[in-house]
Amino acid sequence: MPLVKNFFIGISNNAFLNKVAKSMGPSLGANRVVAGNTIDQLIDKIQQLNDKGITVTVDNLGEFVETEGEALLAKQEILKVMYAINNHNCDAHMSVKLSQLGAEFDLELAYQNLREILLKANEFNNMHINIDTEKYDSLFEITQTIDRLKGEFKNVGTVIQAYLYKADALVDKYPELRLRMVKGAYKEDESIAYQTKEDIDKNYIHLLEKRLNNAQHITSIATHDDKIINHVKQFVKDNNIERDRFEFQMLYGFRTELAEQIAKEGYNFCVYVPYGDDWFGYFMRRLAERPQNLNLALKEFISPESIKKTGFIAGAVIGFGIIAGLVSKMFKK
Ligand SMILES: Cc1cc2nc3c(=O)[nH]c(=O)nc-3n(C[C@H](O)[C@H](O)[C@H](O)COP(=O)(O)OP(=O)(O)OC[C@H]3O[C@@H](n4cnc5c(N)ncnc54)[C@H](O)[C@@H]3O)c2cc1C
Repeated sequence: MPLVKNFFIGISNNAFLNKVAKSMGPSLGANRVVAGNTIDQLIDKIQQLNDKGITVTVDNLGEFVETEGEALLAKQEILKVMYAINNHNCDAHMSVKLSQLGAEFDLELAYQNLREILLKANEFNNMHINIDTEKYDSLFEITQTIDRLKGEFKNVGTVIQAYLYKADALVDKYPELRLRMVKGAYKEDESIAYQTKEDIDKNYIHLLEKRLNNAQHITSIATHDDKIINHVKQFVKDNNIERDRFEFQMLYGFRTELAEQIAKEGYNFCVYVPYGDDWFGYFMRRLAERPQNLNLALKEFISPESIKKTGFIAGAVIGFGIIAGLVSKMFKK
């Protein structure tokens, strides 16, 4: 359903809608997939997951960082979360975005911010700091930053997006880093990325197998795809790969029962928990991946209280989403 996907990716990048949504707090169903907007709410959710034997990677939501002041605020918030994780003895680490630390207008600023975060992380049991990958045009800046930091810090890692043709070379480049393997969440051109689910899945499995055989650090297999999860379980069994060399990851609020079941089976499991008031872009990317997630939005939208609260933005997003869905179905026929 490329039309639906393109639509939600398009509005995830809309600064105006992001700003309006920010002032409302998580709504449209986003509160099922975002852990709240305060650190206390976040810690509560982390503890609930830890009690089930599941570790957490925290994403302090934030998009459209355009000034040094905004980047500084983001860094301070990330440091506050790290303090809170440490104070509450939570089993959790951080996922950060270079763009949030200022990379879109000053890469050196983002590097310095990230370095400060890593120095603090060393004081907290070498807490792992993952650099999330974003749109392709920021990939070079991410690898450049990692290349500058990986000699000094052992607790920095990143994400490989299997839809990129370049992913293979990146897996080979970083065997010593902790890497999260994903399919890829953004809309990329066919000159740089596989376009069909079949091709992306095929490359994802190829990369996972290569990485699991050769890596010197943990591999995080981040997918909700049960076929791929089952494939990995069989692959590690056949190849005698120890369970401490990898973990499964899923996003908070998605396939919770499956996540808990996998953890109960004795596999390491980590949930990616986003929190904060900048929820809109994140939630729209989740709708793009799986338009069925619109159910979350629709369920909330039909409550009268919510209609009052979310008014304009809910109407715009859900209305357009439904139209995009219908139009794409028509074209499919
Ligand atoms: C922990 C984590 C971190 C991520 N970090 C990044 C990042 O840094 N950069 C980036 O570009 N992307 C990131 N992503 C997003 C990722 O790239 C994919 O866009 C996203 O995970 C969707 O792909 P999928 O592998 O889950 O499988 P899909 O191809 O979306 O789904 C495959 C199949 O899984 C099943 N399925 C999927 N979701 C559900 C559900 N909710 N309920 C029931 N069945 C379901 C369905 O059968 C579906 O056909 C991250 C994802 C995760 C889980």
